[in-house]
Amino acid sequence: MEKQGLYTILLKGLSLGSHVLDWTIDGGFFAMYERSEINDASIDVQLTLMKHSRFLELHFVLAGWAEVNCDRCLDPLKLEIASDARLFVNFGGHDGEDEPDEDDVIVLPYGEERLDVAQYLYEYAHLSLPIRKVHPEDANGQSACNAVMINKLNQYLVKN
Ligand SMILES: [Zn+2]
Repeated sequence: MEKQGLYTILLKGLSLGSHVLDWTIDGGFFAMYERSEINDASIDVQLTLMKHSRFLELHFVLAGWAEVNCDRCLDPLKLEIASDARLFVNFGGHDGEDEPDEDDVIVLPYGEERLDVAQYLYEYAHLSLPIRKVHPEDANGQSACNAVMINKLNQYLVKN
């Protein structure tokens, strides 16, 4: 039997109109990617797929949390994930002509029967992370970072 990814959508025989798919992605999902910044997570994904006669419109909504390493003290840091993304899928020829060069449009060969969206889920989750991932400060400006680690890092920086 052909191995099929958990996040593979069967396009063959899909009826016109709206289809809703739900997944929860966790730490195990991100562990499949070597370069993942996310160590642990629980993210609910709802995909609404609209099949039009000539193209597909995918609307992903991600909601949950992800654990990364703090940029400052390297301790685990839990962040909220809330993301909303659209992806258009066109079907086209083989030589890539007239393909719109946009991130949110992909072109599959005519007759393609499957679409694996795992890579997109991975990207959307990472895109929803803030650029600066650090523990928050409290009302007194006291950082929630691991003070012991910060001291160690500071010593290291001074020595070098
Ligand atoms: Zn920190």
